[in-house]
Amino acid sequence: MATHAAYDCDVLVIGGGIVGLSSAYALTRTAPGTRVTVLEKEHGPRHRSGPGGGMVHTGIRHAPGSLQARWTVRGAAELAAFCAEHGITHTVTGKLIVATAGTELPRLHGLVQRGRAHGLPVRELGPAQIAEYEPRVRGLAAIRVGTGGVCDFAGVAARLAAEVGDAGGRIRYGAEVVTVDRRPWGVAVRTSDGRVVRARTLVNCAGPHSDRIARLAGDDPGVRNVLLRETSYELTAPDQVRGLVHQVPDPALRHPGARLTRGLDGVVRVGPAAVPARAEAGSVRPAGRLREPASVLGRAGSWPGALRHRRQEGQEAHGAPARRAVARAVRRLLPGVTEDDLRPYPSGARTQAVLRDGTPVDDFLLRDAPHAVHVLHAPATAATASLPLGREVARRALLRARATGWRPPAVESGHCV
Ligand SMILES: Cc1cc2nc3c(=O)[nH]c(=O)nc-3n(C[C@H](O)[C@H](O)[C@H](O)COP(=O)(O)OP(=O)(O)OC[C@H]3O[C@@H](n4cnc5c(N)ncnc54)[C@H](O)[C@@H]3O)c2cc1C
Repeated sequence: MATHAAYDCDVLVIGGGIVGLSSAYALTRTAPGTRVTVLEKEHGPRHRSGPGGGMVHTGIRHAPGSLQARWTVRGAAELAAFCAEHGITHTVTGKLIVATAGTELPRLHGLVQRGRAHGLPVRELGPAQIAEYEPRVRGLAAIRVGTGGVCDFAGVAARLAAEVGDAGGRIRYGAEVVTVDRRPWGVAVRTSDGRVVRARTLVNCAGPHSDRIARLAGDDPGVRNVLLRETSYELTAPDQVRGLVHQVPDPALRHPGARLTRGLDGVVRVGPAAVPARAEAGSVRPAGRLREPASVLGRAGSWPGALRHRRQEGQEAHGAPARRAVARAVRRLLPGVTEDDLRPYPSGARTQAVLRDGTPVDDFLLRDAPHAVHVLHAPATAATASLPLGREVARRALLRARATGWRPPAVESGHCV
């Protein structure tokens, strides 16, 4: 077995997005003295949510027992405490889920049961009570979930990075991992500048590139990441909405119905709707981010589910919902809204892990391998869930490292690389 000095660090995290940073943060908290390095190919801290993100999800619509339900529900509460502790902008607005047709009432009732099973504060509302929270919104019935809101996730990511640094961890920017070599004693990773980092355990939090990193490590990820383009609109009259207002989601559709989100900047975003970034792949430039390799873009069209759902609603040629159809959906919540009241919002992009048979992965997907933990899918609530998710990744990474006979030192603050 290699000696302690032969390792540049104990745990090496690839990817300095919110998931990699929360994993590194959890490692420094769970096992102080563990030498943690994060390698991030970009030249500074970034957060992928982009301009349209910032929603703290409640987790109410996720199946009981799923990782997404557990971590999103818990993550929202932990995030509020983290933001309060570190002075990060964050508002708990609560979320209104509104039924606008009788056919939606059973699903609304199902959400009440589910929310209570998750331990969420849920209040059932009639039309008059809806107006107490959102005077302009109309509906037959609604529920208000007392958690959920908006948050400066870029601020959270920056704080996590600072905390990792303060605890002795190291974050190297401009460090793109190009090879991963698994050895009997751990992993040796090479970055594009030719430097090699040796670690006991690798944590793969490369987001859209996590499938590729897993393959570089010699592991079969069992999934591949498909790039989706997210289109949104904004309300030209944002004062119509105070917080988060969602139509009752229809599980038969992959997108969750009309969603109105008032961001920290006061903009009310409508959507997003995600469609495969196929024909227009070359134009996907969300917030100056995500330079996807052609291999990822080229595979996008292979997601049959997404293509199937494209045909379900009034959509433009490239699959994004037409403004007319969006206005029609919004009118169910906000009567009187027309196409002219919607302005295109900067589009974003996200990735969706897809199984070999084309089935999209709904939940978080983590996979352990010798000397490695891969985060292969982080769904749309990943920023909300990042603190509990990071703890689980850290737990698994420490188990892997301990399997080599290593024990975290009681007190040691060592940098590596
Ligand atoms: C448009 C959008 C809006 C969203 N909005 C919300 C929201 O409102 N609320 C919410 O809870 N969640 C939201 N999410 C989900 C959540 O924010 C994302 O899933 C989460 O940011 C993903 O974080 P990550 O760390 O897994 O990935 P990323 O942020 O993509 O980080 C991965 C990092 O790995 C780096 N990397 C990749 N390959 C290499 C390599 N070879 N070497 C070194 N580094 C590498 C990349 O540069 C990148 O910085 C949103 C996501 C998107 C895309």
